[in-house]
Amino acid sequence: MSVLQVINPRTGTADFEIPDHDAAHVAQVASRLRTAQNDWFKAGVEYRCEVFMRWGKAVEKHAADITAALRIDTGRKLMAQVETQNTVEKIRYWTEQAPRILSAVQEGESRLVPGVHYRYQLVPYPVVGVISPWNVPLILALIDTMPALLAGSAVLLKPSEITPRFATPLQASIEEVPELAAVFKIVTGGPGTGQALIDNVDLVCFTGSVATGRKVAVHAAQNFIPAFLELGGKDPAIVLPSANLENAANAILRSAAGLTGQACQSLERIYVHQSVMQPFVKLLADKASSIRINWPDISSGHMGPFIFQPQAHKVREQIEEAVALGATVHCGGEVSEHEGGYWCLPTVLTGVNHSMKLMREETFGPVLPVISFADENEAVHLANDSEFGLSAAVFAGSREEGEAVAQQIRAGAVSINDAGLTVSVHDVEKNAFCLSGMGGSRMGDAGLLRFFRKQALMHQSAPVIPLEYFDESAAT
Ligand code: NAD
Repeated sequence: MSVLQVINPRTGTADFEIPDHDAAHVAQVASRLRTAQNDWFKAGVEYRCEVFMRWGKAVEKHAADITAALRIDTGRKLMAQVETQNTVEKIRYWTEQAPRILSAVQEGESRLVPGVHYRYQLVPYPVVGVISPWNVPLILALIDTMPALLAGSAVLLKPSEITPRFATPLQASIEEVPELAAVFKIVTGGPGTGQALIDNVDLVCFTGSVATGRKVAVHAAQNFIPAFLELGGKDPAIVLPSANLENAANAILRSAAGLTGQACQSLERIYVHQSVMQPFVKLLADKASSIRINWPDISSGHMGPFIFQPQAHKVREQIEEAVALGATVHCGGEVSEHEGGYWCLPTVLTGVNHSMKLMREETFGPVLPVISFADENEAVHLANDSEFGLSAAVFAGSREEGEAVAQQIRAGAVSINDAGLTVSVHDVEKNAFCLSGMGGSRMGDAGLLRFFRKQALMHQSAPVIPLEYFDESAAT
């Protein structure tokens, strides 16, 4: 079997390898899942929840190993721990929600055809494929997996080949619960493994770039299966003159530079009312200047390395192009190499415009380009001048003022007086707009219900209509 090398982002060296599973292996695993899925679904949601709770305990038991694997692959310490804790919390959350969601009454008497009683039967897609990215490896591998499993589907997961180390300890936690191990399997590899997965599942959940998302959508369409796509973003923030600037600067800096900007919902475009532009930029740059990289000691500082090293070069190019075209750097601005890894401090820029790549393409780095606006219409126009529509943030003096602007923004989730709330507020439904995605909401009750097809069961209690009904002479 061929293998893929995995790079440690803090050293730039390949110090791990994974099987690059081929199409035959993927087909074999998917076939086993298909066989096991029916019993899993038939056993009912209470049973699946009980199995999930045991899995939660198994994850806790393997938490140290899972966290250690994430720490190496991402080069960050706190977030590795948060990802593992979040997994245990989300197992609990979905286990609490699933019975309620599935108990909703799905029957009634037809209003159009008297005498017909109908009932919906929820029929899960038998095998759901999940393809995940490298930036938040564990959370994004499980965000679709958990509700799909609780819906009664079997799941075939392919994590990113850039950050796959967690798969081994996660697998160990799954194997402690044999009922789960029968319906949840992991394959590793690169694009070829992902393609083979699409050929063997009934629905694919993909989180990743727009470029790959397009390929996945075409491939899924050829196989006549649904594709739920969660793709890139270029999220805007609008700071109105009434906003609490201190609060806005804290939220914007955290959202734009946290995780080294390697998050889909990172703020990447900041629009500030001209009356507060100068104090706001100073505040932002002052706060950003106190931030440190987590090198040489992973236990200190705030900013991890670029996980996928080509990303470091892309960020550097975008900053260099903006500066060459007249942008001013207020802090940061350098992508620096330390012993084979690449880091970048929060970089605040002004003098930018929408002709620059920095304002048009996804950056996926800790870069905060700031532009001033004269009035609300201009702010909304600038925020909507993008191919993406993942999420956004508005900072205002009141909820009403914030919502009035927020509802004009073409994005699936808008935080008011905070940023990236969609990361934790999983109870509210949202869809990605424009190039940022396609398919049912992964949040809220729909996050689980999207794994079902509805089968209508209709019972006729009146005498049936005979063929004589079509007697042409009855027409006037
Ligand atoms: P990517 O598109 O390069 O890869 C994602 C996954 O797709 C990987 O597992 C990869 O092996 C697989 N893949 C590659 N080619 C494939 C093919 N032809 N068929 C099937 N699978 C294939 O994305 P990435 O670089 O790992 O992740 C970063 C991107 O993900 C960014 O654009 C980011 O915005 C986006 N993202 C979006 C969300 C969201 O919720 N909207 C969340 C996190 C990341």
